[in-house]
Amino acid sequence: MSQMQISRTNDSAQDVPVSVLVGFLGAGKTTTLNRLPRGVHGKKIAVVVNEFGEIDVDSQVVTRETRADAELVSLANECICCKLRGDLLGAVEDLTQRHDLDYILVESTGLGEAAPIAQTFYAPSLEGKVKLDAVITVVDAAHFWDTYEDPHAEGKIAGESHSHSVAHLLAGQIEFADVVLLNKTDLVPEDEVRRLETFLRELNDRAKIIRTRFGEVDPAKLLYTGAFDLNQAGETEEWQEAEEELEHVLAEREGDEDHREEGEDHDDHESEDDGYGFASYVYATRRPFDLDALRRQVFSRWHQVAAGVARSKGTVNVAGSDDVLLWNQAGRRVSLEVLGRWREDSQRGTQVVLIGRGLDTDALSEALEACTLPEDQPAPAVASPVSPAGRREEIVLGVAP
Ligand SMILES: [Zn+2]
Repeated sequence: MSQMQISRTNDSAQDVPVSVLVGFLGAGKTTTLNRLPRGVHGKKIAVVVNEFGEIDVDSQVVTRETRADAELVSLANECICCKLRGDLLGAVEDLTQRHDLDYILVESTGLGEAAPIAQTFYAPSLEGKVKLDAVITVVDAAHFWDTYEDPHAEGKIAGESHSHSVAHLLAGQIEFADVVLLNKTDLVPEDEVRRLETFLRELNDRAKIIRTRFGEVDPAKLLYTGAFDLNQAGETEEWQEAEEELEHVLAEREGDEDHREEGEDHDDHESEDDGYGFASYVYATRRPFDLDALRRQVFSRWHQVAAGVARSKGTVNVAGSDDVLLWNQAGRRVSLEVLGRWREDSQRGTQVVLIGRGLDTDALSEALEACTLPEDQPAPAVASPVSPAGRREEIVLGVAP
């Protein structure tokens, strides 16, 4: 590891900026990362690389190409968004012990979720030492839809800690991004690129989208952006979940245990069709859902009822239950998960944001409405709204339960 250094602007050796790169397997994270340190002259950059699997290919490539300019820390065999969060924290703590660093870049595995990685930098031990600059998500323009729409793609996610489908992972990585690198745009027609861009903007209208080829991008657009917004991120249930998990990680370090809280949120924006076909629609009702009817009438006939919906997410009020359910659909899968409990009856309500192309909002609303019960009707006995074991149920849409 070379110590080549020319000059530093980070005089105080405090608040070292950190950028996190996420993105699905093969999207081009390593290629992008390889180019960054070489493009930033006179900065001392440390790169933390996470590999998942027996072959340390990413690390070899990164080591070879960045060795002259950057310090490399490799975390292998498990994932820094879950099993290795403690190791990630430790590695960054170690890096901040050195007072010559200008920047830390963290490259996730393709399966890494953005929120828990990002939230790790808000551990008390890193306060005043690092500052999360941006979450950068690399998206593969050439293969996005194939992966996203593949109902069987969950097989690629290994390990119990990644229990969501690939489509959920992709959607989450994009929704959490401050900067999206839309890579491999040279491999698809302009129309296709624009269509994907409009979908990305529907998922996340805050992120800056940069088109790239071969992971080539001006480092000035990626580093020192100050794009990460803690207030915004802190509102998401992914962040709140990550906070809880971090407490467990920290408690484990201390040899201690336990803590709990709950959270909810929804993106509350509607938009017009933008010419490339994607638009969003918010369905809201005070009437409670008959969850069995929803499974039978909407989920099992998804392609008829909700044709064109690529992404939907929200909270659901279920008849006969005090549980707040999170509805989270990406591609061909929807998961229902217990988020917490309604504290008061006045809070109860369903709000789901649906994003898609050519949405027939009347038909959609009608189909959903048909699965609700009148507000004042006594609720039917619901055994359990979601499977009690995992407290999460995942349904392949279009297939009768
Ligand atoms: Zn993970």
